[in-house]
Order: sequence, then structure tokens, then C-alpha cells
Amino acid sequence: MIKDFIDDNHIESILEQAKNPDAKHIREIINKAYELKGLSPEDVAVLLQTEDNDLVGAILQAAHQIKRDIYGNRLVLFAPLYVANHCSNNCLYCGFRCDNKELNRVALTMDQIKKEVQVLEREGHKRLLMLCGEHPERSSLEYFMEAIETAYSVKTENGGEIRRINVEIAPLDVEEYRKLKKTAIGTVVLFQETYHHETYKIMHPSGPKKDYSWRLKAMHRAQEGGVDDVGIGALFGLYDYKFEVLGLLLHALQLEKDCGVGPHTISIPRLEPAFNAPAAIKPPHPVSDHDFKKLVAIIRMAVPYTGMILTTRETAALRSEVFDYGVSQISAGSRTNPGGYSDTTSDRFRAAQFNLGDTRTPDEVILDITERGHIPSFCTACYRLGRTGKDFMDLAKPGLIQKFCQSNAVFSFKEYLLDYASPQTRKAGEELISKMLNETFKTKRKKMIGDRLLQIADGKRDVFI
Ligand code: SF4
Ligand code: SF4
Repeated sequence: MIKDFIDDNHIESILEQAKNPDAKHIREIINKAYELKGLSPEDVAVLLQTEDNDLVGAILQAAHQIKRDIYGNRLVLFAPLYVANHCSNNCLYCGFRCDNKELNRVALTMDQIKKEVQVLEREGHKRLLMLCGEHPERSSLEYFMEAIETAYSVKTENGGEIRRINVEIAPLDVEEYRKLKKTAIGTVVLFQETYHHETYKIMHPSGPKKDYSWRLKAMHRAQEGGVDDVGIGALFGLYDYKFEVLGLLLHALQLEKDCGVGPHTISIPRLEPAFNAPAAIKPPHPVSDHDFKKLVAIIRMAVPYTGMILTTRETAALRSEVFDYGVSQISAGSRTNPGGYSDTTSDRFRAAQFNLGDTRTPDEVILDITERGHIPSFCTACYRLGRTGKDFMDLAKPGLIQKFCQSNAVFSFKEYLLDYASPQTRKAGEELISKMLNETFKTKRKKMIGDRLLQIADGKRDVFI
């Protein structure tokens, strides 16, 4: 039986001891991060306690370099798909909480889910994150599994299909995770929201989510139930961001120690206003943009091989900045109300989980990131080739995954450009691909990539290595 492995006093004492760090020690830790072997909680605490602007600049610079070394210029894209907003919990920061009697409650039918997926496929999406509230009747595990299978079954013109569905669902027991895994899911994501016990208690006054420990150990149970890729996250703004970063790191280390593999992804949502959600309207510990950039950079240095996910909660301007410091996956064109992609007339605000900071269409986001030199990737190759869990980490840690990722990003982006892009995005995308072919890839790989790009231009789809 795993014990609750988050000791608040221990985290507070690491942070206390790291206060007023000297510049030499900070620079030593930054240099250590360049070795791409990650950082200890004590090292991370020192970076978190760094306030000097020049040294924070050095942290951002290191994270930028690490991101480039490991992820190159690519950014993986996905769309969230909310299927139901019924919830028996009462999280003070969420519009779906059960005490919000004014919310329009929806559980999409399978036909409605099909319509949602059709819209997403026609925008070019290949990866989804499927979510729902926690409600035993209105969003049962059986309903959720049927929703996953329905989404996979939808095919649209130009080979439009969903190739990977990651899921965010309330904590399950081992046997339920085993059952869920049979639906060909990718990563199972679950946020602890806050690692601080007292804050957790205040924020979750009723419902099954009250149980901190059951939630904390869910990703252990998921792995025991055969889920090989798990994702963790914290909702920044509920408690001191420094505490939360250490909570995330300790969670990642514990998973690695107990299950042999750490989290596949770390999500870093920041509190956004939500309909009738008091803690979201006035966050108890707001995180400034400056601190947010710093924490993204520190997480990238601490766990260099773990994907980092940023959603459309953030504004376009801030998103563009933090791509450089470590974010590797982003959502685009999101709706957080069930049915919001296909029913644009619905009263979005009254059925949504939270407000969006970036409301651009996927094509606008893709054009923007392309013009900034990032290559948007719709790649799902690893999951489909069984390169998951420990097999994935064994390739990721020595940096070997990079050669697959970069090539697959180019192939999947080329498909997007031909099938879905606006003329302006297509032009910018073709220019970026040519530039990469000329400047990034060496002769042998350049030829392999060039040959496959010709196949895609000839109509072949779903090309990956
Ligand atoms: S955060 Fe999740 S569990 Fe909490 S009220 Fe919202 S949907 Fe329900
Ligand atoms: S090759 Fe694997 S790790 Fe790289 S982007 Fe594709 S799925 Fe992700």
C-alpha cells in the first residue's frame, strides 16, 4: 500500500533552506541543468527562490536551450473534447461544480460526440484530450468508454481521423483503469490541483474529490492497471507556486521510483475566471506572468524529458513566450463547454468549465507559431507503434526520440498544410519546411524526409517513422 508521499512540512523546509541563495550556487545548478539529467528538489528550490533579474534571465536562457536540445522547434497540438459537465464535486475554482445551479448541464449523446469530432477533424486535429466531470450516473466509466470508441470511429474526408485520445477522468481503481485501457487510450491525465493538504481541503469541500490521498495515488493505480503513459498537473493560483512546483517534482520522482517510469506529461494550467466559481474569480495565490515564465523554465530544467502542456487558458502573447522556455504541447481552438465545437449558437459561458485566454482558431494559432519558427506537430507515432511507457523513456532520456519527433512533425504538418490550412498558413508552412530541410537535417535524413514528403504530396497519409 503506497503512503501519502507529499509531506507539506518537508516541502516548506526545503523552500526555507533555499531562501536567499548565493549567485555562485545558482549558476552551478544552472550548469548542472545543461547536462539534461534533471535536478533534485533541493536544486529546484534554490532556483524557485531566485529573484535576481539577471539570474532569472540565466534560468530562462538555460530552459530555452534545453527545450531546443530535446524538442527542437516542434510543438505538438491537441484539442480538448468535453463530453459532459455534470459533476458531484464542488471544487471552488470550477464552473462545473455541483453548487453552480445556473450552469447548463449537458452529457453529449454519441451522435453529438460524432458531430464534435467531425468539426475537430475538419480543423486538422488528430489528437484529443477527452474530459468530463465526475458523476457516477451522467458520466459513468461505461459512458466515457463509449464516447472514446465513438470518437475513434469518426472519419471525415481527406483521411480525417482521430489517431490518439488522451483522457482526463476522475480517479479510478486498478481494475477500472485496466478496463479503460482496453479502449486504446493514450495518456491518462489527472491533476492533483494543489499539493498543499490544507488548501486542498478548503478547495474541495464536498464530493468524492475531497479525498486527497485517493487522488494523489491514482497515477500509481493507473500504471498498476496497465496504463503506461500518465500525466500529472497542478492548478497554479490555488497555493504558493513554489510549493506546487516541488509537489509536482516529488510526485514525478515517486512515480519513477515506484513504477519505473515517471509522468509522460506535466500540465501547468493557471487559474482563470469561471462562471460562479469563487476561487477562480479571485485566485488565493495569483501567479504573475513573470513567475509563470520562471516556473515553466524551472520545470523544464528539472524534468527535461517530460512533455509540458499549456492550454488556451493563457493569452496568445504569453503562450508564445513560454513556448521558448519549455512547453512542448499546446491546445488550439479549444471549447470548454460540451457541444461547443459543433453548436456555436449555444450559450458557451453558461456551460463552460473556465474562460479562455486564447480564442483564436487552430489555423490562426498554427500560422502564428509557424511564423515564430516552431513546427506544429500532429504526430501520434509512438503511441501507435507501442513506443510508450518505459520504452518511450528509454528512447527519450538519451535524446534518441528526437530524430523520430522532428521527422514526424514535418510529415504531419505537411498533411495539415495540404488538407486543412488556409492559403496564408500553407505558404508560411511550406517555407518553414523548406528551411528545415536545408538547415536542420543531414544528407541521409534529408533524402528520406524529402521522399516521404513527395509521397504525402501524391496523396499518401498517416506517414510516420
Ligand atoms: S474540477 Fe473537475 S471535479 Fe471539480 S467541479 Fe470541476 S469538473 Fe468537477
Ligand atoms: S515521435 Fe513520439 S514522442 Fe515524438 S512527437 Fe511523435 S508521438 Fe510524440
